[in-house]
Amino acid sequence: MQLLSVASEVYPLIKTGGLADVAGALPLALASHGVAVTTLLPGYRSVLAKLDRPRVAAKFDDLLGTKARLLRAELGGRDLLVLEAPALFDRDGGPYADAAGLDWPDNWRRFAALSRAAADIAGGAISKYQPDLVHAHDWQAAMALVYLRHAARRVPGVLTIHNLAFQGQFPAGIFRSLGLPDDAFDVDLLEYYGNVGFLKGGLQAADAITTVSPSYAQEIRTPEFGMGLEGVINARADRLHGIVNGIDTDDWDPARDPHLARTYSAGSLPRRRENRAALARRFGIDPGAGPLFCVISRLTGQKGMDVLVAVIDDLVAMGGSLAVLGSGDPPLEAAFRDAAARHPTRVGIVTAYDEPLSHQLQGGADAILVPSRFEPCGLTQLCGLRYGCLPIVARTGGLADTIIDANEAALAAGVATGFQFGRLDADTLRQTIARACAVFARPEQWRAMQRQAMRADVSWTHSAARYAALFAHLIGRSG
Ligand code: ADP
Repeated sequence: MQLLSVASEVYPLIKTGGLADVAGALPLALASHGVAVTTLLPGYRSVLAKLDRPRVAAKFDDLLGTKARLLRAELGGRDLLVLEAPALFDRDGGPYADAAGLDWPDNWRRFAALSRAAADIAGGAISKYQPDLVHAHDWQAAMALVYLRHAARRVPGVLTIHNLAFQGQFPAGIFRSLGLPDDAFDVDLLEYYGNVGFLKGGLQAADAITTVSPSYAQEIRTPEFGMGLEGVINARADRLHGIVNGIDTDDWDPARDPHLARTYSAGSLPRRRENRAALARRFGIDPGAGPLFCVISRLTGQKGMDVLVAVIDDLVAMGGSLAVLGSGDPPLEAAFRDAAARHPTRVGIVTAYDEPLSHQLQGGADAILVPSRFEPCGLTQLCGLRYGCLPIVARTGGLADTIIDANEAALAAGVATGFQFGRLDADTLRQTIARACAVFARPEQWRAMQRQAMRADVSWTHSAARYAALFAHLIGRSG
């Protein structure tokens, strides 16, 4: 089976969050299920610079008003098609916003063009390449399924929602430039409260919709998590599947991780001490005997970082320390910096995007805090499991599906892998941190939990099989 995957970010070429991890790892995992994936992504300046001897696979004279080429390349076992369209993607700044953090004003054109290219590829734009199915990730690729619906040659399309908070809504005035027939601007497809909704269109046009955990698949059917799209999603609930993400267990392997001062496994946990000490030096803190908590996250309200900021003084009073890696809302960054200034030996923050440091945190900290308000899947808690960095998480979305709370029964049965709390507020978070501190004070029990966490299957094995079965069903082959 030939699958065309379309995504706006793909690890290790370009990454702002979990979408890139999934778009980078799932193709490798699908290979052993007979699914050959080709991944289409935008030719951002930084992506083009990383390609090794790309070959031109197709040319467009007028792709939504601009000249473009498709470049074929290979990277770490991934087959790539990169959309080189200098007018759209050759610029400084991030994939979605300029250096000051402002969304590019032509994002609708940039990602409609990516999507249009995907539909054209499905229609035969590249000689000798014919995908059986298109897999679109998030709003940036969702329009591929809308274009497919109007294409001469239709193949089935799957939309995966990685975060419903990002929907790609644009003023109605852009519709004329999308190159679609008038009837596409309809409440049953693209029209969304008078605007053009890219994700909405994808949800309507998809043959199947997936999201990245079973719990989130239920949550997005409610007004609390549906972000206004719950009606559309409910109407298509018979097409909706929740498939939990995995992580790349080669990239994330404490026994072979080149970023760690000392590699280790479940059988050699004391070796983590060296990583912990290196981490403390890197963050300029002295954690002492209490737990060293870490955060690896966008610093935003979605991630519950405002609530964490409110309990840092208590965390320190309980004997804990905190190392934060992340960037995001300026007031939150400032609040973490203030906390570091108040507790210079206990709290440290690095406001950067730093892949090696994220590995060092997982391999050296005792616990990772993920107090999200909503979390479609979450990946850092999966890495935490794999590294014995015990996750402390809110019971929502994929966090609820992947972590077993250390309640009395789970501790007695030896199955606990982390700490969960039901409602995100300062009191609950404080109590959960206190629970973690209490278990940490019993080293045998803590180590048993670490070993249990490291036994959890966080690989793509099961989920890739589920995707493969869904794809086979859609193209009419038995799974
Ligand atoms: P989201 O996609 O909502 O940001 P996820 O947990 O799904 O959250 O994925 C976040 C990914 O980005 C993880 O792989 C995490 O390790 C990584 N990450 C987040 N912030 C940073 C950072 N400052 N430096 C390095 N990696 C980061």
